[in-house]
Amino acid sequence: MSQSRRPRIGVLGAGQLALMLAEAGQQLGADVICAGSPGDCAAKIAPLVEVDLNSAAEVAAFAQQIDLVTLESENIDAAVLRGLNLYPNANAVAIAQDRLLEKRFFQQCGIGVAPYAPVDSVGDLESAMAATGLPAILKTRRMGYDGKGQARILRREDAAAAWNEVGGVPCILEGMVQFDAEVSLLAARSRSGEIVFYPLIQNVHRDGILRRSDAPFANLALQAQAERYLRDVLERLEYVGVLAVEFFVLGDTLLANEMAPRVHNSGHWTIEGAETSQFANHLLAILGRELGSTASRPTVLLNCIGTMPPVAETARFPTLARHDYGKLPRPGRKVGHLTFAASETAAIEHWQQQLNLD
Ligand code: AMP
Repeated sequence: MSQSRRPRIGVLGAGQLALMLAEAGQQLGADVICAGSPGDCAAKIAPLVEVDLNSAAEVAAFAQQIDLVTLESENIDAAVLRGLNLYPNANAVAIAQDRLLEKRFFQQCGIGVAPYAPVDSVGDLESAMAATGLPAILKTRRMGYDGKGQARILRREDAAAAWNEVGGVPCILEGMVQFDAEVSLLAARSRSGEIVFYPLIQNVHRDGILRRSDAPFANLALQAQAERYLRDVLERLEYVGVLAVEFFVLGDTLLANEMAPRVHNSGHWTIEGAETSQFANHLLAILGRELGSTASRPTVLLNCIGTMPPVAETARFPTLARHDYGKLPRPGRKVGHLTFAASETAAIEHWQQQLNLD
């Protein structure tokens, strides 16, 4: 890459993660160019190239126009990604996009996971339920996000209905974990192998969708355990960029639920709450530059699901940061988020109610 001109980073996808990567790119002097469809929200601030992300030829042609490629979604077929100058690498994405490969990989790393069993046909369900116990969750191996591609099985007789509900595709069955909390750890690893960690974040989901994140989840022992796990994962995968791993907390133990090979919703608070946001650190990592400090302040993030609250309402709270992704309202869709200093307890409580998060 020439030192004399601004680096050109291509993002596969043009949703809100690409939008916030492009905002960070503007501050770092890098051009972020998105591959997506007309009307995708990142086009508000970044050049958008119309690309069918299922087409290896179209993605390769896009990659020709830029210096390096990254992505905002793990749900792009790994076959399309191979051969690109891609950060993180296609192998890491291939593992993260398949729940069965991901679970096996965590186990290879010595990281605990919920009891699970592969389910390739309705006939596998009986033995899978015996392995996991009930209640359990049937999850499609691929293409699941925000609670999609999941069905709960409370009683044995629900199993066939759950199989039909997820569309009869290859799945895993997972035993339900009675967790004390859900947390995530975000780390960035640069091309030189430098690694930085953010503090653990506590996450609250409803209907499989992230609603609220509180940083930090202050527990030194679990922070150290999670950092050990992520360091091992990052190094084994020769990973470059930001990685998020979601865990269930059971007492003093962490069970890995899933990983996202990209910037992550639970880290959006880092824009205001950390010295270097996850978006900036992702770009620094893939550009091979020195990573930024992850020092941070206690911060709370509330997701806006379905519709954004009116500007006039959020403007009455001058200390909150409003992020409107500019997406059309739709039930269950993440359309924006609000960020607060954790000390703003009255404002957080107010917005927690306004956004129906209770
Ligand atoms: P996932 O798409 O796997 O992240 O699942 C979305 C959410 O569903 C998680 O964040 C949990 O709140 C819940 N969930 C998923 N798997 C389990 C499990 N094995 N036990 C309990 N809750 C789960």
